[in-house]
Amino acid sequence: MFTKKEIIDILKDNTQNEQLFELADIVRHNNVGDEVHLRGLIEFSNTCKCTCHYCGLRAKNKNIERYRIPPDDIIKYAKNAAELGFKTIVLQSGEDNFYTRKIMCKIISEIKKLNIALTLSIGERNFEDLKAFKDAGTDRYLLRIETTDENLYKNLHPGMDFNNRLNCLYNLQKLGYETGSGCLVGLPNQTIESLADDILFFKENNFDMIGIGPFISHPDTPLKDAPNGNFTLSLKVMALVRILMKDINIPATTAMETLHPQGRIIALQSGANVVMPNVTASKYQNKYEIYPNKSHSGEKNKCANCLENKILSIGRTVSNNYGFRNTV
Ligand code: SAH
Repeated sequence: MFTKKEIIDILKDNTQNEQLFELADIVRHNNVGDEVHLRGLIEFSNTCKCTCHYCGLRAKNKNIERYRIPPDDIIKYAKNAAELGFKTIVLQSGEDNFYTRKIMCKIISEIKKLNIALTLSIGERNFEDLKAFKDAGTDRYLLRIETTDENLYKNLHPGMDFNNRLNCLYNLQKLGYETGSGCLVGLPNQTIESLADDILFFKENNFDMIGIGPFISHPDTPLKDAPNGNFTLSLKVMALVRILMKDINIPATTAMETLHPQGRIIALQSGANVVMPNVTASKYQNKYEIYPNKSHSGEKNKCANCLENKILSIGRTVSNNYGFRNTV
């Protein structure tokens, strides 16, 4: 276990990065093995009631064509993904009240008939909704805390409440979900100290999955003039999470690939063991622009073997199981 001071020192010192990435890779190999779990991502609505300062889906952005995929089509796309061999589907969206408890439960129960694991990433919901989604068969839920710096959180999320997000995470754990969290790296005014706090927060709460991605500036948001986050620093935060949380699932995030052409493969060699290829129908893909140049994410559709070949080329295999925590 590292102290906060040790984490800060590691994040600030760039002379031993390669050793850090190698250690994370060894810990990954020893604890979750060489299999890479692919999760098929369906971005089913870019409609959002929130106004997060960094996100292109924010309600106040008028330069975006909004869409909602009809529930029957979501189910159809999930079927296609299951036929392609995906063992997990991730349903992600903005915070969109159109998809009520009842509508979501219908979608969930239909997808669960496909014999695959199901993850939701649809923002904060009340306890009753989360309970209903779990009862309908949902296995996992992703809700990044984004930053544990409460002041920074407040400035970036007008009208939102840090404690509500925390409570939501605790409710997910209470309800027996495999619970995922994570943070952005390189937000304006984010300190190295607060990144160390983020890492310790993940460890203390023993989350099952942690997604780490660099902040990428979106031209239609209040942070349009802010510089992008740093690729190497994001990778270091991710590697430290792997070293501290040996058996969890860690995705090589698409945002890493946006900043570096081999970003996801490098992440897979620095602690990550999951990739989430975008399986959303192509007519919707470009419209889910949480940040610009997210385009690399769709290769599973265009070139079914591309990603798999890359994974094989670094001596890894594509998993054929559901990829729950502790199933090696
Ligand atoms: N509405 C859902 C899903 C949000 S999109 C929720 O609230 O959980 C998924 C993730 O994209 C967010 O958690 C955030 O960390 C990330 N994201 C949003 N805008 C981004 C940006 N400009 N750069 C990098 N990542 C971003």
